[in-house]
Amino acid sequence: MTDFRFDYGPRVLSGTGRSTSVSDLVPEGPVLVVTDKGVRGLGLADPMLGALGDRVLVFDAVEADPSAATALAAVAAGREAGVTSVIGFGGGSPMDVAKVVAYLLGSGDDLDGIYGVDQAKGARLPLVLIPTTAGTGSEATPIAILTVGGAEKKGVVARPLYADWAILDASLTFGLPRGVTAATGIDAMVHAIEAFTTKRLKNPLSDALAKEALRLLGANIRRACDDPANPDVRGAMLLGSHLAGVAFSNAPVAGVHALAYPLGGHFHVPHGLSNALMLPHVLGHNMAAALPLYADLAPILDPSLASLGRQAQAQGLVEALVAIAVDCGVPARLRDVGVKADDLDLLASEAMKQQRLLINNPCEIDLADARRLYEAAL
Ligand SMILES: [Zn+2]
Repeated sequence: MTDFRFDYGPRVLSGTGRSTSVSDLVPEGPVLVVTDKGVRGLGLADPMLGALGDRVLVFDAVEADPSAATALAAVAAGREAGVTSVIGFGGGSPMDVAKVVAYLLGSGDDLDGIYGVDQAKGARLPLVLIPTTAGTGSEATPIAILTVGGAEKKGVVARPLYADWAILDASLTFGLPRGVTAATGIDAMVHAIEAFTTKRLKNPLSDALAKEALRLLGANIRRACDDPANPDVRGAMLLGSHLAGVAFSNAPVAGVHALAYPLGGHFHVPHGLSNALMLPHVLGHNMAAALPLYADLAPILDPSLASLGRQAQAQGLVEALVAIAVDCGVPARLRDVGVKADDLDLLASEAMKQQRLLINNPCEIDLADARRLYEAAL
């Protein structure tokens, strides 16, 4: 029998409109809601804020690719108000910040001392995470990514960052624009694929969740773009994103994410889109080692691939992913998001800083490989 360990992550409450139930899940006392101005402006949090009443302090200054300074500002606000719990509400950025803030408020640790893997060992405040996109899976993971010094992405990865609860409320995603639905959905599919093919810590439970996540996401992503207020479709996307998040919390993501992060750090390309842009190129690079695993996944994404040979199946997986991006209108080239040939050296050297992720990739990616993959994606 395979030796492994597995964390299932937070407890889950799922259902359309269930974000208002958060008031039953947090303790007495002031509660800090961490979100962003876009989400706030859409009024998505209003039912939840109404349920929590006047004990709420809202911190809505989280930006895309959130900085360490933003997290520290939220900590200061929460400390001054004496909050006893934290809610992260939004996409990956507010949820990542909420995890760090709950940890720093509860433990009293310094942020600079907890970057890396398993450096955070203290206690955090009670924490509930509520995603408003179906993509990052951040509500499921013990991972927070912050931008430090203007461009570098640094991760805090530690078990205390697992939330107590995740609430999956599909109604929060009905209004997502088509481009965001598609890019975040592809990001979730990348989580499932990279968890299933990761070189380290892959196990039977992460495999089962990754496969089911890919099935749910693949069967529903086009429908979510075309029929955005369908609760069954949106619920399936949110569940798929969550399952992929649980999978990659245990079986970590790899080369696609390593090459995607510099696009966010330097060009502010949204995380999901960054992953969509690099996905076919990194999968092609990995084919030498990961072909059998890609072949296993292919019929899950596209049942018509079931009758093909292994090599054709693996190639079919990549083509099916590209077809989803095309059908959903996701940009295909780095030049579509403002990257120029002069930028490729910088991107490649920045990608080499993501050793935390590169060590998981089925095939080695060195500096020359990274440069070549960015060039192919240009
Ligand atoms: Zn991702």
